[in-house]
Amino acid sequence: MTPSTDLNIPLFERAKALIPGGVNSPVRAFKAVGGTPRFVKRAQGAYFWDANDQRFIDYIGSWGPMILGHGHPAVLEAVQKAALEGFSFGAPTEREVELAEEILSLVPSMEMIRLVSSGTEAGMSAIRLARGATGRSKFIKFEGCYHGHADSLLVKAGSGLATFGNATSAGVPPEVVQHTIVLEYNNVAQLEEAFALHGKELACVMIEPIAGNMNFVRASVPFMKRCRELCTEYGALLVLDEVMTGFRVALGSAQSVYAQSIPGFKPDLTVLGKVIGGGMPLAAFGGPRAIMEHLAPLGAVYQAGTLSGNPVATACGLTTLREIRKPGFFDALAARTRSLVDGLSQAAKDEGVPFSADCEGGMFGFFLLPELPQNYAQVLKTDGARFNTLFHGLLDRGVYIAPALYEAGFVSAAHTAEDIATTVAAAREVFKTLQK
Ligand SMILES: *Cc1c(COP(=O)(O)O)cnc(C)c1O
Repeated sequence: MTPSTDLNIPLFERAKALIPGGVNSPVRAFKAVGGTPRFVKRAQGAYFWDANDQRFIDYIGSWGPMILGHGHPAVLEAVQKAALEGFSFGAPTEREVELAEEILSLVPSMEMIRLVSSGTEAGMSAIRLARGATGRSKFIKFEGCYHGHADSLLVKAGSGLATFGNATSAGVPPEVVQHTIVLEYNNVAQLEEAFALHGKELACVMIEPIAGNMNFVRASVPFMKRCRELCTEYGALLVLDEVMTGFRVALGSAQSVYAQSIPGFKPDLTVLGKVIGGGMPLAAFGGPRAIMEHLAPLGAVYQAGTLSGNPVATACGLTTLREIRKPGFFDALAARTRSLVDGLSQAAKDEGVPFSADCEGGMFGFFLLPELPQNYAQVLKTDGARFNTLFHGLLDRGVYIAPALYEAGFVSAAHTAEDIATTVAAAREVFKTLQK
């Protein structure tokens, strides 16, 4: 397509005049990969169509929520019915209770749950609750993990363990991040050292069990086990941020995957989002009754939301969860995702491109690196220029992956074997063009 006929370009110009960077969330701007973002007109199943009516196989799925694919008939019907009944009441509804029952039946580490509207809100509220319940201020997070854009979470590692993190965003005063300790992911020795120094002052450790915000990096089993043990030993709460992994990597979420290797494993608090809203603004955090009862109106930890538990969003989320709990759903999704990862790996191998990839359930990641990275510093070793060539090569061939190498990918139940084959064939063509 020549620039003069690409209808995304004038749209982006209009957007940029009115919205900072032309987007309402930074990664959409294509800043890392260059070029013009595709403005989506509509989506169905595994595809979306842009302003030029060009079709793309969608491996973002709204960054995870669209696990059933776009426009699933049962979800559409539930949302339409709910909308007819009313958009928002600011008073409780039965559907909030049903959604709570549904989620708690699938993730038994939670006895109570509070619904909110975004993952950011859920993560920030979980930290406040952990602090309120323990009476402590400090907490640990790991470099490369994203937990939403609350002030105290926008932090990168300081120069040493005894120093606290530095804000990664302007507008976050140092005082606000002085209680945030940032450690290297999968580094057991550093974790132990941090607990030895600060263990008794720690409210919580917050972690993405499979870090999807530095592409796809699993917490190793020994690392997760040590997180659990140290939290228990020092009275800190283990907060699993499953906004991305929740109901995405397994029906019981990532915690059920770790429980297979670590007997009895469970977090104290779980943060959820993305899939539980099925594409509508809905997120949640939950845990044992004794902790959750610290929340207002029962307890002293304040948390609230005008649109929390929104009736249309809960209809969307509830129907999505009821679909994914049907027998065989996750086995089929995992097999499809695995077939993509295997196909890409084989194509890269055939073409002599250094490549590593991993997946769990319907979430995957790949790196133009010979081995899977274990932490953020290793992820950064990926050659950005080569990734950008791959990204644009796929985009030109109608395959839409995340426009940044720090992002995971998502397969939905609507992706067919043919979609996977088309994707692998496109990748193979691009791999041939990558300089060895
Ligand atoms: C997406 C995400 C968030 C933030 O959720 P929003 O709904 O975008 O605010 C938090 N944590 C993780 C792990 C995420 O992937």
